[in-house]
Amino acid sequence: MDNLNTTLKINEIFYSIQGESTYAGLPCVFIRLTGCNLRCTYCDTEYAFYDGDINNIEEILSKIGEFPCNLVEITGGEPLMQPNCIPLIKTLLDADYAVLLETSGSIDLANVPEGVVKIVDFKCPSSGMEKKNLWSIITNINPEDEIKFVIGHREDFDWAVEKIQLYGLDSRCEVLMSPVHESVGYETLSKWILDSGLSIRFQIQLHKHIWSPESRGV
Ligand code: SF4
Repeated sequence: MDNLNTTLKINEIFYSIQGESTYAGLPCVFIRLTGCNLRCTYCDTEYAFYDGDINNIEEILSKIGEFPCNLVEITGGEPLMQPNCIPLIKTLLDADYAVLLETSGSIDLANVPEGVVKIVDFKCPSSGMEKKNLWSIITNINPEDEIKFVIGHREDFDWAVEKIQLYGLDSRCEVLMSPVHESVGYETLSKWILDSGLSIRFQIQLHKHIWSPESRGV
């Protein structure tokens, strides 16, 4: 296998229940890469901005191989900040893992290999990062990919609906919305979705209900 000596800075690798996306509820191995180009107001993984250890891909494969699981999510931070994320994805796909890639909507996706499921988290106004959204990447979003909006208030919801309609996002792939933790009530967001008449999938951060919201490595 090529790329085994290629290195990445890894914040943590852990095995847990997938908390988000249409894969929510499934056992999943998470590879959290260090670094992020954004600074969202509600970020719950600031510990991933700088901390981490250099691992080569052979070491990463060895660590994830300890878990009885074929589903792997590469997350961050922003994993695509590290160019060697691309060879990592290729190696995992070659090793027959099902691979999810959680990425903000601010990084070009043209080099991301076919076969990985991209979960693209476009940033709503309450994140403070709205201007970083790179809307041109929607041409690289495939039907098996997913688009996520994290909703902090009603203005975020209306903004997201406008973008869904402007770019026809719901005809490209699954569109999900989740509330910023403890900012918008579940019933409130559910009602907004129902009233919109759009086929938006409501989701919660399941792992924050299984374990303490402050827990790491879950
Ligand atoms: S993109 Fe994710 S990791 Fe980066 S600041 Fe925003 S919430 Fe935090």
